[in-house]
Amino acid sequence: MHSNSRMHSQVHSRLPSLSVPKRTESETISYAPFTLFPSPVPTRLFNQAFEVQQDFNLLVDKISMDSEFLKNSLASTAEADEFTARLFNIYTRVLDEGIAQPITLGVNRSDYMFDKRPKLTATLKQVEINTIAASYAGLAARVPEVHRQVMNVWGKPDEAAKIMSNKAVKGICKGIARAWHLYGSSDAAVLFLVEKFSRNIFDQRCLEMELWKKNVRVIRRQMYEIYERGTLDDNKKLFVDGNEVAVAYFRTGYSPDDYFSEECWIARLMIERSMAIKCPNIATHLVGTKKIQQELVREGVLEKFLPEDPAAVERIRATFVGLYSIDEGPEGDEIIAKALADPESYVLKPQREGGGNNIFGEELRQVLGGIKDKASRSAYILMDRIKPQVVKNYLLQSGASVKLSECVVELGVFGVYIRNCNRLSMNLSAGHLLRTKRTEFADGGVSAGVAVLDTPYLI
Ligand code: ADP
Ligand code: MG
Repeated sequence: MHSNSRMHSQVHSRLPSLSVPKRTESETISYAPFTLFPSPVPTRLFNQAFEVQQDFNLLVDKISMDSEFLKNSLASTAEADEFTARLFNIYTRVLDEGIAQPITLGVNRSDYMFDKRPKLTATLKQVEINTIAASYAGLAARVPEVHRQVMNVWGKPDEAAKIMSNKAVKGICKGIARAWHLYGSSDAAVLFLVEKFSRNIFDQRCLEMELWKKNVRVIRRQMYEIYERGTLDDNKKLFVDGNEVAVAYFRTGYSPDDYFSEECWIARLMIERSMAIKCPNIATHLVGTKKIQQELVREGVLEKFLPEDPAAVERIRATFVGLYSIDEGPEGDEIIAKALADPESYVLKPQREGGGNNIFGEELRQVLGGIKDKASRSAYILMDRIKPQVVKNYLLQSGASVKLSECVVELGVFGVYIRNCNRLSMNLSAGHLLRTKRTEFADGGVSAGVAVLDTPYLI
């Protein structure tokens, strides 16, 4: 049994909160859940999230080029967490061999909540930044039209007209298409790396269709298929089924389950070694770990990466809450003691992506109590728990009854950038995602606390 708070975190999976078909039933379709109305979002916080996104793009990219920082920051984590260790091994392999492709494409999404602690006025606080498989741009771009329609039917045309369009698909595809162009072979394709059964396939298809409109050819393959049928030629060009790959865009590969056999790891290494432009490359993937997020909060670290831009440092730091290493030693001991005494004020996070992994409340006390005297505690970090502002909305979910619910929203902003050698040739804030979930989760089951798609109604 999961605790309530565990379920609370599960709903923020990067997969949509659909009524889940069995994984073998790939033909089963369910609509993506959404709110009946747009949720209110303070204009000030929305703009702040957009303004800081280019700073985050730059920061993520700079960290990805600092192998010493990555090595030092991830050493203890890699010892305690095998998945991080395996990603890290791929990283050191390609570093030793020499990086074949100097062009990098980044598509990330920085997620925020509107924190009500300790002030009455909400502040923008980062939950995390996703540097691999940052999803939902496609579906999020469709919701404004739905909400405008609802508002018009309700007889509120002025309010309907206020609902912003979402340029997430356009921005991300601009980045992918530019990277494809820079690769310089008009016959080459963009490779979407996907799961065997993608619950979120329509979100991916929205990007794919936009790329086709730009005359960029897209192919979809699983990692396993790259192992089976992928090849590197003498110039490290990557081919699969006769297609040269210009851009390898990962929509899988962030969770241990995505590497269900050794062959998947071999495929990841092959892609990383290749001339294909990776989105993300392995270094940028590692920058998105919770451990790196925690290290960024340390004094002087942001300044080290952005020495000439104190204003950017300030904008970024304003979005941080407390994050703490719990590596063995007095620093870790001290924060563990605090968290055990007051578990409601912290979140315990392992190095996992995709939702449902974080530990809250009483379960935090139990898990932390169990690992506090073991080296395995380095696999986790602690984070201050954000207490978000509550809003009301109706959630429309397949099979669930519709009732007015108390909810919290999470705003994501997409960032897109391209680096060619040492220079950023593109750096965009590229659209947003609003996800909403119930604050009540006592009733249990899938319908409890499920996140759904939403749009911001700026106030
Ligand atoms: P994942 O990589 O699994 O998506 P996140 O860090 O985004 O991990 O956390 C998943 C969910 O847990 C978030 O969407 C949010 O609902 C909740 N959460 C994470 N961190 C915090 C926090 N510091 N305070 C409150 N809720 C949090
Ligand atoms: Mg998340």
